[in-house]
Amino acid sequence: MKKPHNIHQFFSGSCEFRIGAMNYDQIPESRLPEVAFIGKSNVGKSSLINALVSKKIAITSKTPGRTRQLNFFCVGEKLNLVDMPGFGYAKVSKTEIDSWEKLIYRYFANRVNLKKAFLLLDARRGLSEKDIEMINIFNAVGVSYQLVLTKIDELKSDELEKVVKEIAEKSRKFAAQHPVILMTSSERDIGIDDLKKAIVEVM
Ligand code: GDP
Repeated sequence: MKKPHNIHQFFSGSCEFRIGAMNYDQIPESRLPEVAFIGKSNVGKSSLINALVSKKIAITSKTPGRTRQLNFFCVGEKLNLVDMPGFGYAKVSKTEIDSWEKLIYRYFANRVNLKKAFLLLDARRGLSEKDIEMINIFNAVGVSYQLVLTKIDELKSDELEKVVKEIAEKSRKFAAQHPVILMTSSERDIGIDDLKKAIVEVM
């Protein structure tokens, strides 16, 4: 796959919603490189995806009924972007959580065109048990992934340094992890270009 010359142009070009897959059979076949975004509810995922493509696309994922779907978007007909809404969401039943987790697991275990998963972490909260569960899945099925801190504008630089150090220490033992933790703020437009570069790198 040819990498785009101008990443800014690429990400601000077309971005179309393709499908919200509620079960495994609805996941569309594709040969395009794919990246997935996952994180706990309220981590700032919609804001980050919107900042990435300079459009309010991720609002789609918040439409009632779509919060338990894998939402597929196509960027510039060259890249698939998958928005995986809110894991660790407390307000749903155990059965719903189970079927959602099974769907996510099957997706990660079988998606051959998936290049990288971005696991989003709220900078104020660090790495939770639920995030570690997700990391264990990535490692079990061999998905390469990268941690992305969100809302870094909420922390002072020394606080941020401490959080990054803690996360790096806790997650060092995981083999499939990209060594660089991306630091972002959608609100202040920090780290969005680094995220763009990290995506283009794997295309
Ligand atoms: P999602 O549930 O993961 O999709 O999260 P949203 O993108 O909807 O954001 C959840 C909340 O966090 C909202 O109130 C946002 O305004 C806020 N938020 C998102 N990104 C940032 C950020 O970069 N900085 C700050 N301070 N707040 C943010």
